[in-house]
Amino acid sequence: MFRMDRSVQIRELQRNKDQLWDIVVVGGGATGLGIALDAVTRGYKTLLLERSDFSKGTSSRSTKLVHGGVRYLARGGILLVKEALRERGILLKNAPHITDNQEFVIPVYTLWDVVLYTAGLKFYDFLSGRLSLGRSYFISRSKVLRRLPLLKAGGLKGGIVYHDGQFDDSRMAVTLAEACVENGGIVLNYFEVTTLLKNEKGKIEGVSTTDLETGNSYKITSKLVINAAGVFADEILRMDDPSSGPTIRPSQGVHIVLDNSFLQSRSAIMIPKTDDGRVLFAIPWYGKVVVGTTDTPLDTISPEPKALDEEIDFILQTAGKYLTKPPSREDALCIFAGLRPLAANPDNPSDTKEVSRRHKITLSSSGLLSIIGGKWTSYRRMAEETIDKGIKAGLLDKRECVTRNFRFYSDEIKLKSERLKIYGDRAGEIEKMIDEKPDVGNLLDPRFPYTRAEIIWICRNEMPRTLEDMLARRTRALFLDTRASAAIAPQVAEIMADELNTGKNWKEKQLRDYNELILNYI
Ligand SMILES: Cc1cc2nc3c(=O)[nH]c(=O)nc-3n(C[C@H](O)[C@H](O)[C@H](O)COP(=O)(O)OP(=O)(O)OC[C@H]3O[C@@H](n4cnc5c(N)ncnc54)[C@H](O)[C@@H]3O)c2cc1C
Repeated sequence: MFRMDRSVQIRELQRNKDQLWDIVVVGGGATGLGIALDAVTRGYKTLLLERSDFSKGTSSRSTKLVHGGVRYLARGGILLVKEALRERGILLKNAPHITDNQEFVIPVYTLWDVVLYTAGLKFYDFLSGRLSLGRSYFISRSKVLRRLPLLKAGGLKGGIVYHDGQFDDSRMAVTLAEACVENGGIVLNYFEVTTLLKNEKGKIEGVSTTDLETGNSYKITSKLVINAAGVFADEILRMDDPSSGPTIRPSQGVHIVLDNSFLQSRSAIMIPKTDDGRVLFAIPWYGKVVVGTTDTPLDTISPEPKALDEEIDFILQTAGKYLTKPPSREDALCIFAGLRPLAANPDNPSDTKEVSRRHKITLSSSGLLSIIGGKWTSYRRMAEETIDKGIKAGLLDKRECVTRNFRFYSDEIKLKSERLKIYGDRAGEIEKMIDEKPDVGNLLDPRFPYTRAEIIWICRNEMPRTLEDMLARRTRALFLDTRASAAIAPQVAEIMADELNTGKNWKEKQLRDYNELILNYI
């Protein structure tokens, strides 16, 4: 039966060590995993290498929206929005187990805003065409307050209801990784690409990579190497050409997770223009509320970005202007930061106004294909364009993209617990484990929905290597309630140590690392 197993994949890599790969993808975030799936389903022999865990970078730190981007419409990005709306529809259709149709309300305070946002969202509906998630419409003040009972009523004229998609970003990343392996690809976490290999003509012919768990190094030869390293893409570009200048302008976005008592609604709030011109969302997610975000240009890039005090204050103060129960720092269950890998203006890298929100694909003279920027929502389209570019450049033989109708979940799956569908087609195995041994169905902690059975099943099927992988990205405990996640960490580490057959000191080290990590989130 299919399962993702790191040691099986490493054996497969060793068995293929003298073979020529079609494609090596560097980076296991939304972009790299999307490309690997596109490649493997076209029939290319594909290897993906991720130096940390899948989606450890930006791809687990998003607002969790599958959206066209209402705010980009205001800036005139019609083509960008249209493309993302089409991809939104495709993703909701192909991954129904991880995505949802989310209702949003934009509260409006002037007649001009009623006209502006009603017209804008009608246009948004129009652009989504047949893949619309529901039409937008104006509602009266009293209806807004019925939907959002904790919204401040002062000055409110009414609201515009519209629909967008919502998802679980890191679970989607695992879904993509599994789909790659199931279709014959190899995807490895904790494998760092250290060098690009070149032939005597200076053309790239592969990579050197190191297994960060064992220190073993491998030389991989490949027809095409794709740089999908997100905000770290410039590191790979410099491996190709040490004199290469910055192509990324990182911009930090922070979110704060609050208890549901601050919103008490199934509708999300979208404030298109706060006092200082930013956008603010308050979105229900797994029984909590995610509030954000910011857009702060940064000069330094870190795998563990940290929210700045002014970003936290901005989110709390702005939320407090709209909510009858203003949140304070003590109310934050989790504060997380992510870096947008925006494509910089090559003529003026520090200019953030000119920074493009669309992805950019480039091919270096040595044959390195790089993709930067873009968004989660459009990962499929970005992947298709990247592989097509490799074909056009003569680096791959021509094969058609098939991901438009690639289904990640079968409609026929029937589960007793709807919640478990986030584990995909084989979630029934978790229910079977609980049927056979009811003890493993007990909750680890009443603050989370997770059971021992899920932790065991994830260990056996989803390649978590660290306690952080389990608590941050396979389950979302870290993001939902950081302190509570620290409370379940010892029992989760115990289960993992048993299942993964780790060495003696593994558990202690994992707990030490985790307790240090959470300081970034509280
Ligand atoms: C705050 C915020 C909110 C967002 N909200 C949304 C949203 O709601 N909806 C949406 O559609 N989009 C959203 N986005 C955008 C979206 O999250 C990103 O565009 C996307 O996640 C980028 O994915 P990526 O794969 O390019 O980068 P990453 O996820 O960062 O992946 C790059 C990976 O490359 C790996 N890597 C780097 N160097 C090496 C090496 N040498 N060897 C091997 N691996 C390497 C890194 O470890 C990393 O995991 C948001 C972004 C931010 C920052």
